[in-house]
Amino acid sequence: MKTMQLVWLKRDLRAYDHAALAEAARRGPVLPLYIAEPGYWSLADPSGRHWAFVAECLDELRTDLAALGQPLVIRVGEAISVLTELLNCLPIEAVWSHEETGNGWTYARDIAVGDLLRNRGIPWHEMPQNGVVRRLQTRNQWSKIWEQRMRTPLEPPPAIRPLGPLSEIGGIGIIPDARDLGIADDPCPRRQPGGRLAGVAMVESFLRERGEAYHREMSSPVTAYDSCSRLSTHLAQGTVSIRELVQATRHRREQLAAQAPGGGPHGGLRGTWAKALSAFEGRLHWHCHFMQKLESEPRIEFENMHRACDGLRDPKPDRERLDAWCQGQTGFPFVDACMRALIQTGWINFRMRAMLVSFSSYHLWLHWRESGLHLARVFTDHEPGIHWSQVQMQSGTTGINALRIYNPVKQSQDHDPQGVFIRRWVPELAGVPDVWIHTPWKMSRAEQDACGCLIGRKYPAPIVDHEAAAREARRRMGAIRRTAESRVESRTIFETHGSRRRGAGAIRTRQATSETRRKRSPNPDSESS
Ligand SMILES: Cc1cc2nc3c(=O)[nH]c(=O)nc-3n(C[C@H](O)[C@H](O)[C@H](O)COP(=O)(O)OP(=O)(O)OC[C@H]3O[C@@H](n4cnc5c(N)ncnc54)[C@H](O)[C@@H]3O)c2cc1C
Repeated sequence: MKTMQLVWLKRDLRAYDHAALAEAARRGPVLPLYIAEPGYWSLADPSGRHWAFVAECLDELRTDLAALGQPLVIRVGEAISVLTELLNCLPIEAVWSHEETGNGWTYARDIAVGDLLRNRGIPWHEMPQNGVVRRLQTRNQWSKIWEQRMRTPLEPPPAIRPLGPLSEIGGIGIIPDARDLGIADDPCPRRQPGGRLAGVAMVESFLRERGEAYHREMSSPVTAYDSCSRLSTHLAQGTVSIRELVQATRHRREQLAAQAPGGGPHGGLRGTWAKALSAFEGRLHWHCHFMQKLESEPRIEFENMHRACDGLRDPKPDRERLDAWCQGQTGFPFVDACMRALIQTGWINFRMRAMLVSFSSYHLWLHWRESGLHLARVFTDHEPGIHWSQVQMQSGTTGINALRIYNPVKQSQDHDPQGVFIRRWVPELAGVPDVWIHTPWKMSRAEQDACGCLIGRKYPAPIVDHEAAAREARRRMGAIRRTAESRVESRTIFETHGSRRRGAGAIRTRQATSETRRKRSPNPDSESS
């Protein structure tokens, strides 16, 4: 048998613009491999909805790779034992994959795989697939590197020389069921479908139609389900590459500019599409900006970014509070509607994610780690680098961001004024009149009877008093942020992680709320939309 290149697919489930696959295919026959690792799937952050999406991607990818010459090989087991077995049976010359900014478990797994391959004398080529830079020395040049990578030409799917029936290793293997991996049941009836075809269709529909009012409609969950791109899950599992998406966005901008009156190759694009595409492209930059934080400092998955916050919140959660929040039973209609929508769909927009975390971290004073794990499981798009950076940012533990204590009633009035979203996801409140839909606990007993919603029986009373809880949270956070040591550490954190857009303005040590200090800014570390 001829020597072969092993391509280890992880969260890059595509054949298009796959640098590792293309490079390997140039060297010789390719064994494309996906390993379903029970050790990973039994952790606290992955969930059934993640696996369901991945399984759909694998199914489609297997067909795509077969059409290119060699179907995907799938194995269930831990990476070390699967790779050892393959290396023992097949003449593997090199292993190829994309760099992964995963969780602590995948980080440790990759170190072990690196050791294994080094001991066996097999080179492992890990290639970047986004703007995240390994062993980054300074943030100063980061944006330049991001831009260079996004401009690199896309890799077309390569022709792959077939390997035959692979009887030495017992064939290509089947896509396991969630139960085979020990994954708990996780119904998510409105989850997005997986697979590259679905991802490409989302790119097309967003850039051609859905995205026109993106910048205006992203903040309300009433409009965001259609007006946001909904590409996060595809980016997280790699059915679409971020480079492909950046290039498609730029191409669309040029196309629209050329079509505009007085437009042409050099004519600038104005109007709603210009604003929408510019806001969107900015966020594709943020995608990598936030992932870079975890890549550069993996401990932030578990520990406060700002050490002055250690001991601030008890890592052992108040179970009653946590459960009420996780189940959408806090008594704040908008918070509960967002959580219940998220559980059923696997997605909610940025501002509502921020509000959910703000509520659990400030109003309920829960440690971000436990609430973050719940969200990691219910977000189909869980991306550890973005997730833990954002969870900490919205909990006030980064030391370089403004405090944003969202007022859940004001958010509700601003983003769901008629209570359409609330009534859809919290049916107990369907009969509550518009005037009380944001604060049903303020209804008199007679009004509760009249609309058939007894507070404390049919729907919970508010779990905390908003004003008092927010005041206390501001007091506690302020006490930490005012100390000289804390300010010094904030500067160090900014040096490592802060966005260089708008320079040191990103450091904010004074207290602020999004309601009082909302400004439009391209700085990802100060954005609240
Ligand atoms: C507490 C919290 C946790 C989050 N966890 C995740 C996560 O696990 N996975 C994830 O992809 N995003 C996460 N986000 C960021 C953001 O909410 C989602 O990327 C976005 O809602 C996904 O929907 P979309 O693809 O329609 O985004 P769009 O608004 O259409 O944006 C396009 C893409 O830009 C990137 N992006 C957008 N907003 C942000 C942001 N604020 N920070 C970083 N990248 C951004 C994403 O890749 C997104 O897919 C989190 C935000 C918060 C506040």
